[in-house]
Amino acid sequence: RLREGRALAQDVWSIFNAANLPSDCINLGQGYMNFAPPEWVKSAAEEALNAVATNHYSHPKGRIRLREAIKAHYEPEFGRTLDVESEILVTSGANEGQYSVFVAFLEQGDEVIMFEPFFDQYLPSVTFNGGVPVYVPLHPPSHGKHNSREWSIDFDELRRAVTPRTKMIIVNTPHNPVGKVFTRDELEKIAAIAEEHNLLVMSDEVYDSLVFDDNEHVRIATLPGMWDRTVTVGSAGKMFAATGWRVGWLIGPPSIIQPTLAATTRIVFCSNSPLQEASAVGLEQAKKRGFLKQQCAEYAERRQILTDAFDKMGMNYTNPQGSYFVLLDISNVKWPEDYPFPASVLGRGRDFRACWFIAMEIGVSSIPVSEFYCEEHTSIGESYARFAFCKDVDTLKAAAERLQKLK
Ligand code: GLN
Repeated sequence: RLREGRALAQDVWSIFNAANLPSDCINLGQGYMNFAPPEWVKSAAEEALNAVATNHYSHPKGRIRLREAIKAHYEPEFGRTLDVESEILVTSGANEGQYSVFVAFLEQGDEVIMFEPFFDQYLPSVTFNGGVPVYVPLHPPSHGKHNSREWSIDFDELRRAVTPRTKMIIVNTPHNPVGKVFTRDELEKIAAIAEEHNLLVMSDEVYDSLVFDDNEHVRIATLPGMWDRTVTVGSAGKMFAATGWRVGWLIGPPSIIQPTLAATTRIVFCSNSPLQEASAVGLEQAKKRGFLKQQCAEYAERRQILTDAFDKMGMNYTNPQGSYFVLLDISNVKWPEDYPFPASVLGRGRDFRACWFIAMEIGVSSIPVSEFYCEEHTSIGESYARFAFCKDVDTLKAAAERLQKLK
């Protein structure tokens, strides 16, 4: 089953890759920035490249300076002391960290519950390691324009999804692609189910620095009894506009971090050294520079440009509480029947064709949301395209103007 279906299908990121689209197409597809990391973080990278030790292998746990910086940044967040030797692990991006957790913990046939839509990497990462994904829907509201908090969980459905083979639940808050920030109440209910059935929790919080309005980012690991069963995932790429650096980290109890260290040591041995050093400087200075707060405010403005454009078009969308994605309802977008679609989008959901058409004819790329659903649930995801707003204001304004032609 590892070689079947979605797990080995061409991934959406390479189909909707800038390389396959016209060069003047504005990329609001794959979620990466069109601006550089802050100067003071970049110059730390340069310094690390100019030194000797920082160009060579680091300890598989991660360079000590970065682990110390993660400790200092996250201790107040978790309300506990963190041991740099046994409770923090640096990985080659959040994705490789999560993959290593699956390698370390999944046995053939173990079930992993994920809320659907789910970040697409989870599915193959689970099945490649013998796991079986089990989907619990986030129910979209039935009315038009709405807030991401309205994507709701039916806790009876979640309870019914648990079987004797369930090993783990994946939580993702702020959520990609919905932008939902899970409430304390929702997380408490998930935690109670995890405790009752002795489940591991993988909490993907890579967008934790991008939570807007009055929403509170709650870490499930901080709920009573949850530290010992939870691994929390973080990302330098999202924090410091450096998605290609591939620096991420895991925070959790030694019982999860140690086996995961064994896995990551065999997969990559260690993450790249100079950019770990730069990420350390990022975390060391972020608070005193007021960087994360200011960056979050900038993202809220970027979100506004996109949502204003959708309002002007009179189209329905999900206003996100966090992350940098807006889901647009594209169920009414139409194209000529004989439109020349490439083979890569034919045979996929209707949203693949809609997004291709919008990219080619309107000049703005986005990501079809059925990619974040299992094959059986394609029809739910087909209604949406995901637009990323991790772009500078001028680019977003230009995209907003082009998109008016869609209405
Ligand atoms: N996290 C990024 C996004 O959702 C993409 C990551 C990837 O390409 N695998 O756009």
